[in-house]
Amino acid sequence: MIKIENLSKAYGSKQVLKNVNISFEKGKVYGIVGENGSGKTTFFKCIAGLERYSGNVSSDFDNLKNHTGFLQTEPFYFSKITGREFIQLLCSARGKQAIATDQRNIFDLPLDQYASTYSTGMKKKLALTAILMQTNECFVLDEPFNGVDIHSNIIITDIIRKLKELNKTIIISSHIFATLNDTCDEIHLLKEGVFVKKVCREEFGILEQEMKDFTIGNKIDKLMLT
Ligand code: ADP
Repeated sequence: MIKIENLSKAYGSKQVLKNVNISFEKGKVYGIVGENGSGKTTFFKCIAGLERYSGNVSSDFDNLKNHTGFLQTEPFYFSKITGREFIQLLCSARGKQAIATDQRNIFDLPLDQYASTYSTGMKKKLALTAILMQTNECFVLDEPFNGVDIHSNIIITDIIRKLKELNKTIIISSHIFATLNDTCDEIHLLKEGVFVKKVCREEFGILEQEMKDFTIGNKIDKLMLT
């Protein structure tokens, strides 16, 4: 269980998260949706212990950061580190050895090449492989499906399902509604740094329509296509 109470975060004078209260349970998949700039990544960084904040993030662990695998939207790699070395580095950060790396390289990544030379999708798949090999209890996945080919999207969907089966806590953001529909137990809508709506599986269809209506509105009519 991760319990977040009165979480606020500002960058300078810009208040990004405003007194957020939310809990995440084990064995559940939570989707976080919201427009660009609504604060999703900032929220994830706070949970993953990469940002300072005011308020309280508590969990079953003494240090949540050491049990959380955080997949960033655009993972960064130093120029002279291979995929294999990156995996080893992340595993040793958890005091573990990377075991059966080649067998577990299910995205067929060129592990002996420099990770900085990978394509966007490959970089994301490497970061995901590494946090899975760390054996975390919580997974915070920021746009895991974005920039990744359709074949890998199917695999990532199944990985999320397997993590749920293994009783992990999983929080993901996505702009691709279908991927959330396939994986999530609940979806939370973040608007200007506040969670304004919680939607359970039965109501996913309604939320999808609302988001479409809001996004598209009458924009297509305005194009006056003939
Ligand atoms: P989202 O992930 O929902 O698109 P973000 O959390 O990335 O939103 O950003 C929320 C707001 O915080 C945006 O207005 C963004 O410009 C601002 N922001 C994010 N990171 C920083 C930063 N390091 N410094 C200043 N402003 C930031």
